[in-house]
Amino acid sequence: MGFDTSGLLPLSDALQGMLEQLACCCDSEQLPLPEALGRVLASDIASPLAVPPFDNSAMDGYAVRLSDLASGTPLIMAGKAFAGQPYQGEWPAGHCVRIMTGAPVPEGTDAVVMQEETQADGDRITFLAQPEPGQNIRRAGSDIGKGACVLTAGTRLTPREMPLLASLGVATVAVRRPLKVAIFSTGDELKPVGTPLAHGDIYDSNRYGVRAMLARMGCNCLDLGIIPDDPAQLRAAFIRADEEADVLITTGGVSVGEADFTKQLLDELGEIGFWKLAIKPGKPFAFGRLPRAWFFGLPGNPVSAMVTFDQLVQPALAKLAGQRFERPLQLQAIAAEPLKKSPGRLDFQRGILSQGPNGLEVRSTGSQDSAVFSSLSRANCYIVLERERGRVATGETVTVEPFGGLLL
Ligand code: AMP
Ligand code: MG
Repeated sequence: MGFDTSGLLPLSDALQGMLEQLACCCDSEQLPLPEALGRVLASDIASPLAVPPFDNSAMDGYAVRLSDLASGTPLIMAGKAFAGQPYQGEWPAGHCVRIMTGAPVPEGTDAVVMQEETQADGDRITFLAQPEPGQNIRRAGSDIGKGACVLTAGTRLTPREMPLLASLGVATVAVRRPLKVAIFSTGDELKPVGTPLAHGDIYDSNRYGVRAMLARMGCNCLDLGIIPDDPAQLRAAFIRADEEADVLITTGGVSVGEADFTKQLLDELGEIGFWKLAIKPGKPFAFGRLPRAWFFGLPGNPVSAMVTFDQLVQPALAKLAGQRFERPLQLQAIAAEPLKKSPGRLDFQRGILSQGPNGLEVRSTGSQDSAVFSSLSRANCYIVLERERGRVATGETVTVEPFGGLLL
């Protein structure tokens, strides 16, 4: 394109610069386990129990002592052990105990022989194979030792953690309160859905994207709607957001031409930096703080707003919320068609990743203009093209990032 890209800020520097300034701002509270779904653990969880809590059988079969099997004669069944109903009788020499999966193994058991490896003739049980010591016994603490750390602070609770915590008897957990995030869109041209458009108007789409992503992150959202390009109204909205929320996220009004307008206001209210990021889409971006709240100003172009939220704001919000954050995996794929690219910015092109005959392959969703929202809705991954890379030819290897939690 020929414009000077040397003064642009790399994404990783921008991210690091923000994260260095941010710390968790959410207090913790104790919640009953079912209500804690989606919340972030405020402290490590050490197991109050061993799991399993006692030696138990992994199979339906017979508990045996190896010394009784040495002679090769059948054993007499002394009784039965069920899950929840341990065998409590005597266990004389030459006997075995019928045992079901999950039942505690009787004292002295060397192994459990699965039913399929035995023949029963009334109470006389013949063992067809010699068991190994410890066979089919799940030892106490073999899954989780008592006192072991099972989950660390910063883990966001998903359906996967619920049964784990329940298995430990954890009834309540210390979790962070949700981060409170105020949002508004700026622009005289924006109208809310459900109202007619005059010539020159467009529907405000960014707020719906940002709200949806905040919901996915478990944040509480204070939606301040659309604020026209009017200093007095903008000022009032900034002040309200600062008073009521931990974070303010706006879209629009940070690009050249408009930046001065917002900048003046924000310089007066707080400390804000306007950045030109070396990424595409999403060049203009603002970050800083109001008297109380942190501020993120996303570009107005819809795709840029989504991508900068995903790549930059998401990790920042996670840190404020006390949540450990990991980016989705990046994979290598073959470009199934040429991809347009000029050196100078890290590109997050929108792609469709599929399984081809020779492994993963990826195609572009078409126009990569940051105003073309359909390019994002048809995509299932980013094609991440390095800053200095130029045009990609068919067959070249590229990095792809399948859409993760926020965009799926
Ligand atoms: P701006 O960053 O305010 O200069 O806006 C850049 C482009 O994005 C313009 O075409 C705007 O009309 C458009 N835009 C800004 N905000 C929104 C929004 N909330 N929804 C849809 N388009 C927007
Ligand atoms: Mg605008």
